Amino acid sequence: MKVGVLALQGGFAEHIAALNRLNVPYVEIRKKADFDDTVDVLILPGGESTVIGKLLHQTGLFLPIQERIQNGMPVWGTCAGLILLANRISNEKHAYLKGIDLTACRNAYGRQLGSFETQEEFRGIGIVPMTFIRAPYIESIGEGVTPLSFFDRKITAAENDTILVTAYHPELTDDTRVLEYFLRKAEKFI
Ligand code: GLN
Repeated sequence: MKVGVLALQGGFAEHIAALNRLNVPYVEIRKKADFDDTVDVLILPGGESTVIGKLLHQTGLFLPIQERIQNGMPVWGTCAGLILLANRISNEKHAYLKGIDLTACRNAYGRQLGSFETQEEFRGIGIVPMTFIRAPYIESIGEGVTPLSFFDRKITAAENDTILVTAYHPELTDDTRVLEYFLRKAEKFI
């Protein structure tokens, strides 16, 4: 399995470090030519969703990635990556790539609680450390979407058949169980 890590902006290096810890081959996606048919699955890192959205268009990556998502490529989005994959964003006019039937709220924890760490149950894994950095949460989910974790009664991770989204950053901790969960999930589709 070859994992693509979108490396236009934001925290892609942390995802790469986690993949290295598990000895999983990856390629950094910076331009259209990097995103060829040999990329089986994609990770969209944290960062600034507005900036990543713009860069996806500027590099010509937006449409090829969107097409592969629609054709069932497994994708994991963390934080800004979640926003890019949400079918709706309650406090933005437009969604980005889309792919998972949920409504995300950007910068949902406000200034006071902009960044924080906690530990909560992740369905099927157990208690995992969760680092939130100006994170979104998931306001509502549609059919075919399963919530996987909560914080303060808000959904903070969810999945459909092929897509996993987390509002927090498992890649910022030493704990690779969420990455391993995604890779196991992805294996079924490639
Ligand atoms: N606040 C950022 C956004 O709206 C997300 C922050 C992050 O990815 N850590 O895109």
